[in-house]
Amino acid sequence: MSRPAEALINLANIRSNFALANKLSGEASVMAVIKANAYGHGALAVARALPESDAFGVACLAEAIELRKAGIAKPIVLLGGVFDSTEWPDIERHGLQVVIHAQEQLESFLAYRPHQAGRPFVVWLKLDSGMHRLGFSPSAFARARRLLIDSGKVQDLVLMSHFACADEYQSAMTDSQLTLFKKTSDGLGHSLSMANSAALITCPDSHFDWVRPGIMLYGVNPLTEQVLTEVSLLLPAMTLRSRLLDVRDIPAGDAVGYGEQWQAPKAARIGTVAIGYGDGYPRHAVNGTPVLIGDKRAALAGRVSMDYISVDLSHLPEAQVGDEVVLWGEGLPVEEVAAMSGTIAYELLTGVRSRVSFRYVDK
Ligand SMILES: *Cc1c(COP(=O)(O)O)cnc(C)c1O
Repeated sequence: MSRPAEALINLANIRSNFALANKLSGEASVMAVIKANAYGHGALAVARALPESDAFGVACLAEAIELRKAGIAKPIVLLGGVFDSTEWPDIERHGLQVVIHAQEQLESFLAYRPHQAGRPFVVWLKLDSGMHRLGFSPSAFARARRLLIDSGKVQDLVLMSHFACADEYQSAMTDSQLTLFKKTSDGLGHSLSMANSAALITCPDSHFDWVRPGIMLYGVNPLTEQVLTEVSLLLPAMTLRSRLLDVRDIPAGDAVGYGEQWQAPKAARIGTVAIGYGDGYPRHAVNGTPVLIGDKRAALAGRVSMDYISVDLSHLPEAQVGDEVVLWGEGLPVEEVAAMSGTIAYELLTGVRSRVSFRYVDK
């Protein structure tokens, strides 16, 4: 048997999540965000599974070129824009759209001499509406807009911004960002875009012309609370699973794993699973973090090591070597494992390593 650690990607579930996003978006166009290798799910497979998406969002040129070379012809937006002026010829040749969120990017764009005549570029100009990470201040935004229009190189200009706290209900920050974005961009005649997954669900006022869902496509609840019915319709896209390699009995008081971080309160049955932080399972998962064996839960016992974790099987006498163990996915929300590990689902999903074999199903 080869090493059994496997990420099972369910493309039908991703399509179903996309359909939900599409429905919630109303009249708005949908950009499926597939940066970071589609949050660890495989960008090309996800792009091919979503022919109805109006555009794809990636972080950088390399991610976009990979899609273009594989024949993805849909609009692709570089959400991180240009990092270096040498990228412009490729951006032009592959017909990629760019976010411009900083003065250096704007200058680099203005300095570039396109090979094609006419107005080859679609530019997404980003306003810093309060997150203070990227984007232009309102006055610099107005100047940048004018320079882009006057450049004669812009075929279409989309105005955008990004929320800092859309995952919280009734956030004063979200209200103030939305107000500023509207005030700065209303009436200028451009398409507008602001909503990520969370805002798509909680903030219909922010849908405008383009919504940009990412995490919800992968079946993760983008909100800090689980209250809306829409969220419960999301289906997990990735099931990370492996198998029990070893089962042993230990006496009360003995410890398991590096640093003796878990001690058996009574005689215990310990299972060893072929998954570890070398696969992307979080090293900071605490004792008690659940795994699924069949339809029963078992708890992590002791530190996560590079290639293995140990779980307490004392209540599962039928569990045996070779049994499948689900680390997250169908039957065990990745959000729960993330919470037990001091992180978020985004990090766990994007962190699955290439040592894990990826398998795609579409049903
Ligand atoms: C990543 C990203 C998104 C998607 O965010 P989710 O929280 O995953 O829905 C949307 N817009 C921009 C600009 C992004 O970088």
